[in-house]
Amino acid sequence: MIDQKSQERFFSKFDATKPTECWLWRGCLTKDGYGRFPINQRHIRAHRLSWALANGRNIPEGMVVCHSCDVRHCVNPSHLWLGTPAANTADMIAKGRQPRKYGPTSGPLWFRDAIAKIEAGLPAFNRLGGRIKTHCRAGHRRSFETCTPHAVPGAQSILCKVCKLSSLRKARANLKHGTAS
Ligand SMILES: [Zn+2]
Ligand SMILES: [Zn+2]
Repeated sequence: MIDQKSQERFFSKFDATKPTECWLWRGCLTKDGYGRFPINQRHIRAHRLSWALANGRNIPEGMVVCHSCDVRHCVNPSHLWLGTPAANTADMIAKGRQPRKYGPTSGPLWFRDAIAKIEAGLPAFNRLGGRIKTHCRAGHRRSFETCTPHAVPGAQSILCKVCKLSSLRKARANLKHGTAS
């Protein structure tokens, strides 16, 4: 598949210490937000390589690797599933039935503006002229995929969906194991 050296380079591009959380790609991203890994003078999508390495085989012809977490630059193989393009579309349609509330064309204007700037690598500012951070406190890069505006009207603060998801998972795991908090 790929040689040892390239594998080492690949595994240095994300933090895989927390098995259930998203492993966010720290290398380059494609225009549409997937991790991008340069190899043999071409680029391959990081999540596809991650799936192939974890499963010890190449992706079968015509199949796509989909994210259960919907975080495109996540490369955690436990968040990846192999599907046909049709299954992927069906999954997207099913998820789309809960309409996405916030995106490049929906949600408060300040939020759309700020995230669009951050995605484009430009500085973004809030109403008071303060710089809006490009990453959440835990270091997740802000994008339309990973963020929602805070529900308090006029608050101009941004919530990280990746953090929220992992704290939900933790809470669930704690419940299962019968430990408090
Ligand atoms: Zn993930
Ligand atoms: Zn976060």
